[in-house]
Amino acid sequence: MNDKFLQLNSNLFNYIQSVSLREPEILTQLREETNTLPGSIMQIAPEQGQFMALLVQLMEAKKTLDIGVFTGYSSLVVALALPEDGVVIACDTDEKATSVAQRYWKLAQVENKIQLHLAPALETLDKLIETGQSNSFDFAFIDADKRNYGNYYERALKLLRPGGLIAVDNVLWFGRVVDDSDTDKRTIAIRDFNQKLHQDSRVQLSLLPIADGLTLARKN
Ligand code: CA
Repeated sequence: MNDKFLQLNSNLFNYIQSVSLREPEILTQLREETNTLPGSIMQIAPEQGQFMALLVQLMEAKKTLDIGVFTGYSSLVVALALPEDGVVIACDTDEKATSVAQRYWKLAQVENKIQLHLAPALETLDKLIETGQSNSFDFAFIDADKRNYGNYYERALKLLRPGGLIAVDNVLWFGRVVDDSDTDKRTIAIRDFNQKLHQDSRVQLSLLPIADGLTLARKN
């Protein structure tokens, strides 16, 4: 097999950013504030956020899920791309991190589009299913605890309309997925998840090596 890929290095990466990144000021501020907080590695990369915003606009999405909010970058970047009547159902259990998120959603004047559910995401998703919201969402972003990825995916798939899209973060797990000596439970969970999706005929699939790896799964 011919290897047909570019080896990314800092120079090339900086070049890509310099000719393509268009991060709104409010997102830059949020990213910079988050970088001073513990756990800041959980924040998505700006080029990834921009890509997700593009997808949401391409799909003309209105109803979206953000599973794993942290300080709110992903909810905010999607909310900014949604029309006025668009909605983000944002799921997280972290009161402290989501208080930062809420402050920025207000500053960006999109707080009317984002509904924060401070509860285990599986509970929130199950409630959405129980209240008849299956097949109604356009887009879902999964970026919460890795050991539950399979569970989040199954629920998101139910909640999505046919043609809806699930984006899943960290599927390359800092490269650890190919390190056979790595038997961390999260690494194993992500490997299992990637295998499961590869075999899943319910979706169309693409795994992009953007940021820490982003899988796109379109519901048939
Ligand atoms: Ca992540």
